[in-house]
Amino acid sequence: MNKKAYFGEFGGQFIPETAMFAVEELEKAYENIAKSKEFKDELNYLLKEYVGRPTPLYHAKNLSKHYKHEIYLKREDLNHTGAHKINNALAQTLLAKKMGKKKVIAETGAGQHGVATATAAALLGLECDVYMGEVDAKRQELNKFRMKLLGANVIEISEGLKTLKEATTAAIQAWVNEIESVFYVIGSVVGPHPYPKMVRDFQRIIGDETKAQLQQKGIKADYIIACVGGGSNAMGMFFPFLDDENVNLIGVEAGGLGADTPYHAATLTNGKEGILHGMKTIVLQDRYGRILPVHSISAGLDYPGIGPEHSHLFKTKKASYFPVSDDECINALKLLSQKEGIIPAIESAHALAYLEKLCPTLEEKSTIVVNISGRGDKDMDTVMNYQKGKIYG
Ligand SMILES: *Cc1c(COP(=O)(O)O)cnc(C)c1O
Repeated sequence: MNKKAYFGEFGGQFIPETAMFAVEELEKAYENIAKSKEFKDELNYLLKEYVGRPTPLYHAKNLSKHYKHEIYLKREDLNHTGAHKINNALAQTLLAKKMGKKKVIAETGAGQHGVATATAAALLGLECDVYMGEVDAKRQELNKFRMKLLGANVIEISEGLKTLKEATTAAIQAWVNEIESVFYVIGSVVGPHPYPKMVRDFQRIIGDETKAQLQQKGIKADYIIACVGGGSNAMGMFFPFLDDENVNLIGVEAGGLGADTPYHAATLTNGKEGILHGMKTIVLQDRYGRILPVHSISAGLDYPGIGPEHSHLFKTKKASYFPVSDDECINALKLLSQKEGIIPAIESAHALAYLEKLCPTLEEKSTIVVNISGRGDKDMDTVMNYQKGKIYG
């Protein structure tokens, strides 16, 4: 067993023999190319000049007054393309180019990872195929158009629930079919080793910057909150704080219509150990081990699994995870918009919604950092339709 491939009991490489060659090639490239000074310098240049990093750690004074605690927002919504996904997509696409690959492929739910990958491919001159479930393609029509405009092919998947899980399965299949010439850019800390570790390393810039910015401001965080789909914005934020016993790390899952109903994507709240997309992790499954359908207002959190490192943090109680519902998420989205003039992504609004539960329970005045993983422009149709009483657009 390759110990490096595991976080405690979770992770691994549960893939067909035909794909082993590709993950081994990737692991070597990750160790030899991505950790070289030349690669890091080039990536850091692009993150600064193209993506617009570092993103601010903003003291949200109005929201702080509302909740009677000090609230800071890590502004990943200000990145080029509007979310944290570009950090990882750009890094993996640069790695693909250095490996001599001609084409990148990606799966996408909300369309954010697809847009980020199509953007990076355009910048770096690689072909790009994006796999997207038909339902998501409809929910996120603007992102589908954006990807096409950027020169990517969007391949719509009509299997199963026609969302992120099916798109991921199709992307893995396409990767295995063209394994020599194609690089699979995974959008979160999921999949077989080395993806969960590599994506976390490409996203830890969120937490590294936050740590430095807290220091500069001379403050310490008591709580750090991030939403969790596959878990990449949360893992990138949490990782540099894992050794800090004084910080409470909180991941917020999509509770959909309620984590006690069948309509949610609250993987850690309700899941069990299983195998999905090449990894051993906690997954939503029925008693026969079949993956359960998931349900959330947010396409980006609509995933029945979670990155294996989160399963490990959950099991070892290094981080805690809670669900919030669609309703709570929409209320939080409105609150931030009206208090601070910042419209967050509905994914990020899940993290904000947890403030409503946490703040009243805190006896001492606390400092809370919330990761605003993305901006809300892509979600305006969904929010409008929700207002009209329809659940989904
Ligand atoms: C995709 C997405 C997420 C969920 O993905 P993670 O890997 O859990 O971070 C969260 N927020 C936004 C804005 C996204 O686009």
